[in-house]
Amino acid sequence: MTVPPSVKGWCPGAFKPMMSGDGLVVRVRPRFARLEPEQVLGLSALAISYGSGFLDLTNRGNLQIRGVSETNHNALLAGLAELDLLDEDPSIESRRNILIAPLWREGNVTHRIAAALLRALPELPDLSAKFGFAIDTGPDPRLQKDSADIRVEWSDQGLIVRADGAARGRLVAEPDVIPTVLTLAQWFDTHRTKDRRRMAKVLEVTDLPEGWEQAAPREQGAALAVGPCQNGAFSGATLGAPFGQIDAAELAALMAKSNARALRVTPWRLFILEGVGMPDTDAFVTDPSDPLLHTDACPGAPYCTSSSVETRDFARAVAAQTKGSVHVSGCEKGCANARTADTTYVGHDGRFDLVKNGAAWDAPVKTGLRPDDILAKRT
Ligand code: SF4
Repeated sequence: MTVPPSVKGWCPGAFKPMMSGDGLVVRVRPRFARLEPEQVLGLSALAISYGSGFLDLTNRGNLQIRGVSETNHNALLAGLAELDLLDEDPSIESRRNILIAPLWREGNVTHRIAAALLRALPELPDLSAKFGFAIDTGPDPRLQKDSADIRVEWSDQGLIVRADGAARGRLVAEPDVIPTVLTLAQWFDTHRTKDRRRMAKVLEVTDLPEGWEQAAPREQGAALAVGPCQNGAFSGATLGAPFGQIDAAELAALMAKSNARALRVTPWRLFILEGVGMPDTDAFVTDPSDPLLHTDACPGAPYCTSSSVETRDFARAVAAQTKGSVHVSGCEKGCANARTADTTYVGHDGRFDLVKNGAAWDAPVKTGLRPDDILAKRT
């Protein structure tokens, strides 16, 4: 496999949106990865009024509104603030990169640590925009493969704070978790360089001080799956969003119809309706065997200027005809999937190149395929 081409290092926040082919991309970071019903309805209305009408679920467990014009950006920010989805201080908003174990319960250890970290955000040094935290203290660790720089986890001996890239973390009592996180963040801040802006990159060339590698985290548990979910008194329904894209009008309708207590977002293109059973809906994935759950596709044309091909309709059609994992990428950067897939189609001059068992930037086995011909061959 060859090295992936560099993707944009920008991590768009609400105050500092990224410009894409279809307008600004405005990222919304729900606290505790949870939205009350009125926040879901309000956010959906904002996505329809000021964006493309869709919400993207990101691999950081956030939501994005795409297609926002520069003229509408301030009105959108005001709307987000009204829904309590925005910090007044942009520097706090940009630091609020916190992944949380998805089945947390009010007042449990995961919720307490996440709340303490939210309060401590002003004490953090000014870290790079992509720097993030994972509070992975649910019954089964689930966030070990997701992007974070400082991780709070369970070891067999108790809680640990672990630097991403280290095999072990520092044992801590719960009251010491946040002071330990702050110390590690400060250590990172003094060792980072222009080229090493993530913890794992720093650890490639610098050893942690003594005492930071005491205990290994518990092994990653089973992935959250589409279907009913439960953690003690918490129960809900897990649904999938194909390609991480949510139709805002469909989401608002589902929220109203299901009477869910809240919505939780995850980094895995799944979301959870709190306190309800599986709803009857065609707008989202409710069948754990749906091939769309193993299909990746970036926004493609016309949304991204790097793409010469439409991606998502093609991905839906080709996934239904293909065994194994499928990735449709608008170009060789492979934003939707940085790993290998069984079958990858990569856009190039309005046609597709085919990569087998590789990533979007790997050498294709066929080039210049027309989408219609690919689909016709499979039917
Ligand atoms: S992979 Fe897709 S989203 Fe990423 S730059 Fe290429 S076309 Fe754009």
